[in-house]
Amino acid sequence: MSSQPLVIGKFSLGMGDRFAHEAEAQLAACLAAKKLGVEIVPVWNKSNREHNIIGSEPTSTRVAADAAVKALGWTAPYFLDADHIGLKTVDRFVGVSDFFTIDVADFIAQPADPAAVKAFVDRHPELVGTITLAGIDRPFTTTRADVERTAAKFLLAVQEAGKVYRHIASVKGVGRFVPEISMDETDSPQPPPELLVILAAIADEGVPIQTIAPKFTGRFNKGVDYVGDLAQFEREFNDDLCVIAHAVKQYGLPANLKLSVHSGSDKFSIYPAIRRALAKHGAGVHVKTAGTTWLEEVIGLAEAGGAGLALAKEIYAEALAHMDELCQPYATVIDIDRSKLPAAAVVNGWTSEQFVGALRHDQKNPLYNANIRQLIHVGFKVAAKMGPRYLEQLKACRESCARNVTGNLFDRHIKPLFL
Ligand SMILES: [Zn+2]
Repeated sequence: MSSQPLVIGKFSLGMGDRFAHEAEAQLAACLAAKKLGVEIVPVWNKSNREHNIIGSEPTSTRVAADAAVKALGWTAPYFLDADHIGLKTVDRFVGVSDFFTIDVADFIAQPADPAAVKAFVDRHPELVGTITLAGIDRPFTTTRADVERTAAKFLLAVQEAGKVYRHIASVKGVGRFVPEISMDETDSPQPPPELLVILAAIADEGVPIQTIAPKFTGRFNKGVDYVGDLAQFEREFNDDLCVIAHAVKQYGLPANLKLSVHSGSDKFSIYPAIRRALAKHGAGVHVKTAGTTWLEEVIGLAEAGGAGLALAKEIYAEALAHMDELCQPYATVIDIDRSKLPAAAVVNGWTSEQFVGALRHDQKNPLYNANIRQLIHVGFKVAAKMGPRYLEQLKACRESCARNVTGNLFDRHIKPLFL
């Protein structure tokens, strides 16, 4: 083991592989980018919730990733992300993961110790008043009361992140993993002035984060495009990059600190804004995708026809029959118009082309149905229940599944963002 601390590169792509069959097809997309001269660091992510729903263990992700890296001769860095973990769930991942998304969203707005809040604001007079940051035209204006309010809202969450970070470091060693703090799974977005306060607190807590996932403005629903004000998103994303550059210098956070965009797959309408901002500021980014790969598996099955198409139809019918149960854990990140979901009997009569057209994320195709796409997105439990029957079809339809997985990541994600 080298003594160099683990540092994640400028551009990285989080990839989910629910059934641990697509690592090679996913890595092929990064390899294609590398051949064109752009290094995208692959990060395989799977949350505790996904492992629980599927009944898998983090070691299966490690085995699949290592095998893919070996098979394709990938020599650049790659990581395994223990996605959305906390003190209660981290131990299962500590051995195999080298990237940790420390999720403290549940601690946001829980009351912090008033003395700690006061001490924080006393320690940071630079956060009060008119704050001019390079790259932002209009300075932030804050009062001591503003900073107190923000600190009161986030300090406990940051302290919790410190506990989790130190626990991981006590097992793996300092510098042996990439720490991220995520605050995305919460109700209200964190605008750039709040991000600045949060980063100051994280630096005080001594957590050397390399990526941070705030909640951005607008809706980041699972597997579908961004919904929100594009101009506002672009302004905030640019301001966030300036805040990060400032915090790195001012508070001594790691020089490679970058934004992490969760539920980042399929947000095609904001990719041009992200791309422009990265170029303008010379910044890096981590874009986390997950369920988009599972959707490509179902598309691959449907495209193969025969037994593959039949199984894809069965997945739809089952998902429709158990919609409430499947949607419940994801209620805040999906918007399904139930009146636009065709009956199972209708879908059973569909051709490969009709099924693929409905599911594939091509907004120009009149067959595309975002409601079906979101339902299948949250419906992976149906395939988990099918067990070997599902996995056998994945193998039987390997060519079409792999082609769709690679093509989706490369053509619809890597190309518009990075190439
Ligand atoms: Zn997330």
